[in-house]
Amino acid sequence: VEQHVERPVLAVDLGGTQIRAALVAPDRTVHHRRAVPTDDEAGIDSVLERMLEVVAAVRAAAAADGLPEPIGLGIASPGPLDPVRGVVLDPPNLRGWRDVSVVERVGAQVDLPVFLERDTNVAVMAEWRHGVAAGTADAIYVTVSTGVGGGVISGGRPLVGRDRMAGEVGHLVVDADGPVCGCGGIGHVEAIASGTALARSASALLEADGSPGLARLARAGEPVDAKMVGIAAEAGDPAATQLLERAWTAVGALCVSLVNLLNPEIIVIGGGIAEHHPRLFDVARRDVARHSLRRAGTGVRIERPAFGPNVSLVGLLPIVNDRIGDPAFGARSQASPPATVVQGATSS
Ligand SMILES: [Zn+2]
Repeated sequence: VEQHVERPVLAVDLGGTQIRAALVAPDRTVHHRRAVPTDDEAGIDSVLERMLEVVAAVRAAAAADGLPEPIGLGIASPGPLDPVRGVVLDPPNLRGWRDVSVVERVGAQVDLPVFLERDTNVAVMAEWRHGVAAGTADAIYVTVSTGVGGGVISGGRPLVGRDRMAGEVGHLVVDADGPVCGCGGIGHVEAIASGTALARSASALLEADGSPGLARLARAGEPVDAKMVGIAAEAGDPAATQLLERAWTAVGALCVSLVNLLNPEIIVIGGGIAEHHPRLFDVARRDVARHSLRRAGTGVRIERPAFGPNVSLVGLLPIVNDRIGDPAFGARSQASPPATVVQGATSS
């Protein structure tokens, strides 16, 4: 048995709404977690500047606390992105970002090797290496949040694809005649079940005077977002309830397709929308049982992530540790000595 001894990393989760940063210790505990608004409208320079500030603050606080020095900095970002070149390509959920060399730009400002990975690939690594999918060979992580995304472990290894873009489950078609997605595609699950899609549908309902419940909340000054739809549905508004059911059905259809395509043992569903709506899990479990190929659908676990909102921070611990010294990730990975490898250190 070969076992990597993991060393602490600085972790950044660049989200559409917030930039979160923390020091992740080898025991997967998250220290000095801080969050600042992403505010992507202020521009790329401003976002990167704020990211560097929050990273510096976390690092200083961790050092003052006597925590060991991090060996590298990992950045989880919305995709699509190129983790080898360290470039964020054109994510629908970061306005104005196109071919941004995040690793080069951040790496010029910090004395640590820097790595970039799609947030959902980071999440699946956290859950597969250390969370609810540990011990499985075929696991899928799905996030239902501002967008819908995912990461796949297939046959005991991450599924990457030709352009390292595999696993973008949010852009699977679940309704061939459905709405236009942020990526330009038609009928993608993200266009129906994401927070952005729910907010857009709620706005359309308000405009068409189709929901007294939403109209009441809007008059009371509630922002038109996914949360507002949830509140209206809970208060018994039929149109809002229907919007949510349509979203959960889209997630259910996604899960059925994933089960039939990839034959997983477990699908982990995280993200803010999933976190707040247990009904999503009921519908996904029901639809997988009803509509998957019988054998593939039997016994598939559909679970919440073990690491909750920290999932995209914790997953950077194995990713940074694995990639340090890996020539596939370029010269910058040599900036720090390779992680200690202990042969046969585990016994069970
Ligand atoms: Zn799409």
